[in-house]
Amino acid sequence: MFIQKLYQFFFALVIVSVLLLAYNWHKDYKFDNNPLSQRLKQQIFEKKQQTRQLLRANFGFDLDVPLIVSEKLPSSLFGAAVFTQDEKIIIYLNKKRFKESSDYMIHHVIPHEYAHAVMFYLKDFSKDQSGHSIKWQNICKKLNGIKCDRFVDNHDIIIGKTSF
Ligand SMILES: [Zn+2]
Repeated sequence: MFIQKLYQFFFALVIVSVLLLAYNWHKDYKFDNNPLSQRLKQQIFEKKQQTRQLLRANFGFDLDVPLIVSEKLPSSLFGAAVFTQDEKIIIYLNKKRFKESSDYMIHHVIPHEYAHAVMFYLKDFSKDQSGHSIKWQNICKKLNGIKCDRFVDNHDIIIGKTSF
């Protein structure tokens, strides 16, 4: 019977949907309650090494900035470059943003924030364009940055105290 087939079809569809929902819920739960996967940590490490290599090749110096994955960043920020009160340079990466866009975090955000870190290293604390000056833009591009727009305005440089 056609009606019966149709009924079976929709029944199966409902079962599959419920299973998919449960699977996604489980995946989200696991992500939120665990540190980043080893695979992602490795990708972050490799991207940092590549960025440092570009820094040495293009500017003739090295800068080893710790990249800290944190869940305490406001969700509007993908990452932030911080110059602490005791003059240390740290890059924070927003853990929540790795869930939906890990490629973006690695290929866009790391070079972008590293360029801010280099500006701090060069003692350039200009807040012109929220730190996205022409000088910053040139550094970002040399570090293989993709999001090196002079007109980005996401307040991702912090000088002084943070609660991350
Ligand atoms: Zn920025």
